[in-house]
Amino acid sequence: MKMKKKWQNWSGSIRFTPREIEKPRDEEGVRQVILRAKMEGKQIRVVGAGHSSVPLVVTDNIFMSLEELKGMVDHNPSHNRVVMLPGTDIKETGKLLIKHKLSMHNTGDVDKQFLGGAFATGTHGSGRKLQNLAGMITGCRLVDGHGKIHDIDENDPLKLNAAKISLGALGIITQFTLQTVPADKFIRQEFWSRTEACLENLDKLIEGNTMFDFYWYPRNDLVKLRICNRAEDKVQRPAYGVPAKEQEGWLYQILPQERDLKFEEMEYLLPLESGPDCFQEIRKRIKEKHRHYVGWRILYRTIAADEVFLSPSFSQDSVSISILQNNELEYQSYFDDIEPIFRAYGGRPHWAKKHSLTAEGLRCLYPKWEQFMQLRRELDPEGIFLNDYLKQILDV
Ligand SMILES: Cc1cc2nc3c(=O)[nH]c(=O)nc-3n(C[C@H](O)[C@H](O)[C@H](O)COP(=O)(O)OP(=O)(O)OC[C@H]3O[C@@H](n4cnc5c(N)ncnc54)[C@H](O)[C@@H]3O)c2cc1C
Repeated sequence: MKMKKKWQNWSGSIRFTPREIEKPRDEEGVRQVILRAKMEGKQIRVVGAGHSSVPLVVTDNIFMSLEELKGMVDHNPSHNRVVMLPGTDIKETGKLLIKHKLSMHNTGDVDKQFLGGAFATGTHGSGRKLQNLAGMITGCRLVDGHGKIHDIDENDPLKLNAAKISLGALGIITQFTLQTVPADKFIRQEFWSRTEACLENLDKLIEGNTMFDFYWYPRNDLVKLRICNRAEDKVQRPAYGVPAKEQEGWLYQILPQERDLKFEEMEYLLPLESGPDCFQEIRKRIKEKHRHYVGWRILYRTIAADEVFLSPSFSQDSVSISILQNNELEYQSYFDDIEPIFRAYGGRPHWAKKHSLTAEGLRCLYPKWEQFMQLRRELDPEGIFLNDYLKQILDV
């Protein structure tokens, strides 16, 4: 146990000093910390790479890092399944998988997140037919608030669909079984385009590319189209786009980007068909009210539906729209002004990014909310894995 050290998240907007820091070396170590917390009436929050910008991991009690639990522990070549430890980051996962000619089906925009953290908040990339990253999970091992180990697999869809995106509220996950895909070389291209041309061709861009998203830039009202397809598919480039960049490689090498500038972000997921109208309303509002002090782009992506209880894409193919602001500039009034637009389109907030909803507003967005909460009560009746923020956003 290490004592008193200040911690801050990636953007610096969340800072606190936990009373104790634990870095267990294996599942039994995790279990022992949980048993001690139970005995001493303490809470535990487990952290990944600290990239979330809401206070999911804040605690004045026990702060647990799983950075020692990393790597691949098993590989089943006949099903392309692997068993990974939760402290492995996305970049390392890509490197380990490629040794077996395998790949994740997608990644988000960066590769620093730990698997445990990325899955727990519904981290996603973009692609009409591609689910969020938690869609890879076919099983996991979870230590609950009694110190009991649950070996969860597809034969227990209730627990599996709750554990895939759990915000760390059900227990601590000590390993994941993941469905991977055979690795292919991909080509990733970026094009500048007029916003109108992008919107007129939006359906074709979304349906015609394995991965597609676009950035819209408030200052010049242009977009940057980003498309990515298997090299062998030889997909035609958009005639209305001016080439800006092209890379070829394995997905884990070309999808994630380096992010030097720090930002704050609000992101909502909406039904796929609402995306264009919602985007247009936000674009109009930014041009009218915000572009003199917000130069940051907004990002438009698509995510395939799933059946995960707390997935923002639960039961609906989705569009996600992210608004960003430099982390050293004022962002709250901008986010506050745009958030009602997201909500009017039935948006569900990204669990790791800024939003103002509490359990009252979230409950009605998730048809399987009660199933998740019931399981949480069973697995953690004493609230060992809760903090003030989770109490606000979950039914506690
Ligand atoms: C620069 C940047 C780029 C980003 N890009 C994207 C993107 O493209 N797409 C996207 O969807 N999101 C994106 N995000 C959001 C990011 O993916 C999420 O915040 C993600 O949760 C971060 O992972 P982490 O390892 O830092 O987790 P943390 O922020 O440290 O933790 C997140 C949650 O996971 C829980 N957790 C961690 N490990 C475990 C475990 N073993 N068992 C149980 N619970 C656990 C924690 O308790 C916490 O609730 C981005 C964030 C940043 C800062």
